Amino acid sequence: MHSFEYQHGELYCEQVPVSRVAKELGTPCYIYSHATLVRHFHAYDSAFKNIPHVIAFAMKANSNLAILRIMAKEGSGADIVSGGELFRALKAGVPASKIVFAGVGKSPDEIRDALKADILMFNVESSAEIHAINEVAASVGKKARIALRINPDVDPKTHPYISTGMKKSKFGIASDRALEEYKMASSLSHTDVVGVHAHIGSQLTDVTPFVDSLKKVVALIDTLKGQGINIRYLNIGGGLGITYSEEKPPLPQDLAEAISPLVKDLGLTLVMEPGRVIVGNAGILLTRALYEKAGETKHFVIVDAAMNDLIRPSLYGAYHDIRPVKEEAIRRTKQTVDIVGPVCESGDFLAKDRLLPNVKPGELLAVMSAGAYGFVMASNYNSRPRVPEVLVNGGEFHVIRERETCDDLIRGERIPSFLNETE
Ligand SMILES: *Cc1c(COP(=O)(O)O)cnc(C)c1O
Repeated sequence: MHSFEYQHGELYCEQVPVSRVAKELGTPCYIYSHATLVRHFHAYDSAFKNIPHVIAFAMKANSNLAILRIMAKEGSGADIVSGGELFRALKAGVPASKIVFAGVGKSPDEIRDALKADILMFNVESSAEIHAINEVAASVGKKARIALRINPDVDPKTHPYISTGMKKSKFGIASDRALEEYKMASSLSHTDVVGVHAHIGSQLTDVTPFVDSLKKVVALIDTLKGQGINIRYLNIGGGLGITYSEEKPPLPQDLAEAISPLVKDLGLTLVMEPGRVIVGNAGILLTRALYEKAGETKHFVIVDAAMNDLIRPSLYGAYHDIRPVKEEAIRRTKQTVDIVGPVCESGDFLAKDRLLPNVKPGELLAVMSAGAYGFVMASNYNSRPRVPEVLVNGGEFHVIRERETCDDLIRGERIPSFLNETE
């Protein structure tokens, strides 16, 4: 469920016609619904109300400060993957006691900053990293709480780029090496081994891989107990899918019902890291059609948004529903088109071979389900300033990130003096 619906003949976000945002701020721009974000967070949180848990919003999905502030206010923590994300999370008011830190390549500086902030724990991805964390912790006189990220070797049946828990993946520690690594970690002076972590992939549309992974993790927790290693936190990661097109992903409630029997008697605190399921359908990318172009074999609609603004179609062949902002347009004759942007790459498209009603140049289009892995993956490729982000709350909208200017594009660049003309 989301709050982007037609009302009075045009697309609204909550009580704001998206055309009003276009009029005041121009296009392209990202628009997020506050009500949808809050509803999604609570759907997840309340699904697990019978189990002690911490939700750590996977902020790589959307790390705008205002979005993080909403999450923090609703009671969420953050799953971070870099020092930059730690900085943002703390700035937005996310309590350090609810921050978990994942990622295969944490640098000593990032580890030190996270220890100083006193985050809940590190999700550790390799033997070498356990040693690195122990060393940094010793140097700052702290004990680092850690969970080992286990690679349970289950196939999440999703896109290979967003599948993370199979043997060939760079993530986590192989399950058959886990016990050894746990023993080693427990013997170190400056680590406190508190958890097990498994995150198997993203955009999962079935609960089975979650259950299969969890069974392996629960068996490991049992073995660890036998060795005197008492785990307090069980982190099941994120990964719940959303509807981009025809998918029928499980609801948070379905996930809770599938896994509760496995975890409810373990006496552990569950940690969860949802990202996409919270923000994906809470945002759109608003764009304007610039030109139509009939190619030899294809019909193109050229719009003002491009792969640098939303890379998912180019990177993963991802599907995003595209809707005309004027409701009347839905009833026009349909034709098969490619929706492409101005970037000089053939891979620059938002939709391919899509049957869409005729759109005229100047008209607005909404690229749906763009709230997750949208703006955060935007770049300045082709020297395109990054677009603004807007948060709608009821009948009002707020700019939560300004459109970049040309000066922003060259900030930090220097022409060395030897290139200055002297003669
Ligand atoms: C990306 C990621 C998530 C979030 O995944 P979603 O599919 O957006 O829910 C959670 N945990 C880790 C470790 C991740 O890398």
